[in-house]
Amino acid sequence: MGKRRKMEKRYRYVSFLSDIEGMKNAIGEMRGMFFPKQPLLNRDIPKDTPVLNEEWFIRTLTDKILHHPENGMEYPFFGEPIFDPPLVDFVRGNDLIFDQFKEIIGPHHFTPWEIMKWQAEKNGVEPPDAKDISVVSFVMPITRNTKKDNAAAGDWPSERWAQTRLLGEILSQTIVREIVTDLMGKGILSVSPDVTPNFNKKRYPNVGWASPWSHRHIAYAAGLGTFGMQDFLITEKGCAHRLGSFVVNLKLKPNRQRPEDIHAYCLHHQGKKCLRCAKRCPVNAITAENAHDKETCYQKVAQSLKYCNKNYHIFIYGCGLCATGVPCESGIPESIRKSMESKSSGKK
Ligand code: SF4
Ligand code: SF4
Repeated sequence: MGKRRKMEKRYRYVSFLSDIEGMKNAIGEMRGMFFPKQPLLNRDIPKDTPVLNEEWFIRTLTDKILHHPENGMEYPFFGEPIFDPPLVDFVRGNDLIFDQFKEIIGPHHFTPWEIMKWQAEKNGVEPPDAKDISVVSFVMPITRNTKKDNAAAGDWPSERWAQTRLLGEILSQTIVREIVTDLMGKGILSVSPDVTPNFNKKRYPNVGWASPWSHRHIAYAAGLGTFGMQDFLITEKGCAHRLGSFVVNLKLKPNRQRPEDIHAYCLHHQGKKCLRCAKRCPVNAITAENAHDKETCYQKVAQSLKYCNKNYHIFIYGCGLCATGVPCESGIPESIRKSMESKSSGKK
């Protein structure tokens, strides 16, 4: 994808034709198209390559997200950041959870080894062993201004939210591409699955609309959060965020313990009164009986393309109403956090 020209002083004219980068992003996400070429592996490994450990990845991702020129909104919020500092963690390529994903999500979901094999073959090298691979997963929390605007919206996403959805995705892909290019230059086989032609979204029998690489499931695997009633991942920084991940031929140690309960941070799932996300949904796609109805949600989100285009002059769809104005918006809900804290300090 080319570099997006950010609008500073006015809106784009005829945005459904002129927001080319937005259109490419939306179509690319569905069809696995328009991604730049994958970087080639440098087989002549430089002698002065530093050790790239967990600390290096956390620092690099944090620096990039905080200081990247693309971490900025367009008119009328020009210059405001899109994201706050990230959460970063790791999951090993031979973690058995990837086999479980094949059953839960479906056989179409790649294991880290499968996507790494694709990259290895493209570069004419042997694929590394699953035990020598790790996935780097990161959470980019959405800013307070954006969450506040979306929490005040009732039918359609707020303008800041819509910009975050589009510009945040482009930023995430840009950052990961820069890191993967750097690693490949250092002779470390790496791949960002969601910018390869293998990535496309379609309806699957088990899970409805899905992609072959779920950043959300990867982030759960890396211990970064658990799922809410609306299917978003509730993290230490809440569920209003964008997620990213990429695979590297390095052994990186996870820092967080993954909760076994995939709904550990959701009030309703923990038997406490809530379902605020259900009340926030304008099309009743969340119910106590059926949890999140992906198809109803998808229809509403798809309709938002027209609204965002007409009102915000960008080519994007989105919603996120159920991720804002809810107790899990900006952190793990207080009562759950407190009971986790008292358990870990040994109190009853
Ligand atoms: S709003 Fe309540 S029920 Fe919905 S995901 Fe968050 S904690 Fe769970
Ligand atoms: S994202 Fe889907 S489930 Fe959430 S409020 Fe919007 S339509 Fe409803």
